[in-house]
Amino acid sequence: MEKLLGKLIQESRDLAGHGRVADYIPILAEACPNDIGICIMDIDGNIHGKGSYDHGFTLQSISKVMALMLALLDNGKQKVFSRVGMKPTIEPFNSLHDARHYNQRIPSNPMINAGAMVVTDLIGGRGREKADRLLNLIRDITSNPNIDYDEETYLSEKGTAERNRAIAYLLKDLRLLDGDVEEVLDAYFRQCSIQMDCMDLAKVGLFLANRCKAPNIIWDDGEEMASLILAIMNTCGMYDFSGEYAVKVGVPSKSGVAGGILAAVPNRFGIGIYGPSLDQYGNSIVGCKIMEELSKELDLNIFR
Ligand code: GLN
Repeated sequence: MEKLLGKLIQESRDLAGHGRVADYIPILAEACPNDIGICIMDIDGNIHGKGSYDHGFTLQSISKVMALMLALLDNGKQKVFSRVGMKPTIEPFNSLHDARHYNQRIPSNPMINAGAMVVTDLIGGRGREKADRLLNLIRDITSNPNIDYDEETYLSEKGTAERNRAIAYLLKDLRLLDGDVEEVLDAYFRQCSIQMDCMDLAKVGLFLANRCKAPNIIWDDGEEMASLILAIMNTCGMYDFSGEYAVKVGVPSKSGVAGGILAAVPNRFGIGIYGPSLDQYGNSIVGCKIMEELSKELDLNIFR
């Protein structure tokens, strides 16, 4: 396996030059575009890592997956999906138009920023407490108490978040947010700034692959939670590239603009990838390619 991962990293290295690191959050522009890491964990607990797999990076939009879990635990499915839809979108992740999705009166899905803000609004607690509860959930899932916020990234995003502020204030104006706008935004920036590495991400993937079961976590409706989250990741996790990604890769995945990809192959693998050079959709350009090749090599496509 290590040999295969090394080969995939080597073969996709040139692609990094065809993308760009995110710079609309200034600190993300400091990432090295040539860093590539991958970690894959199987259901028996075997771990395979290659490249910069222990390099820390911020979750950004990947946090939307765990935030959705927590909102579902706090509120139940019915309430959550009365406030945010389950529709894929053709809008980019930071679309203002998506605040109120076409003929629906709510954001299209929880993986686009507008929908994610509604999800954060639904998480129990006020302001920082929401993000702290999410951080604790992530620490539990990964059994890694050292995972924390990257304060610099949090401040960098908070200081330059005009578009996200516009989305949040629009949501409030449309009566789609209950809480205080700045509190919701603050919790959202904090959740995006949680720092992890590929191994931590692979653990989250494995938790999902394992139907939301872990030795230290027992949820009554773990099975249902897993199938719901995996379905949303599959249809919406790679933004407006999700359809093509499903055809090419066929593995429920979620990306973030820091360059991470979280992927879960039901009953088989959890995968974490890092490659900060992004494509036009804001997905890791190298990460998508590695997932495509890995899917072929290990027969991961869930639709096959
Ligand atoms: N923090 C980022 C934002 O809201 C997350 C977006 C992303 O990873 N696509 O703009």
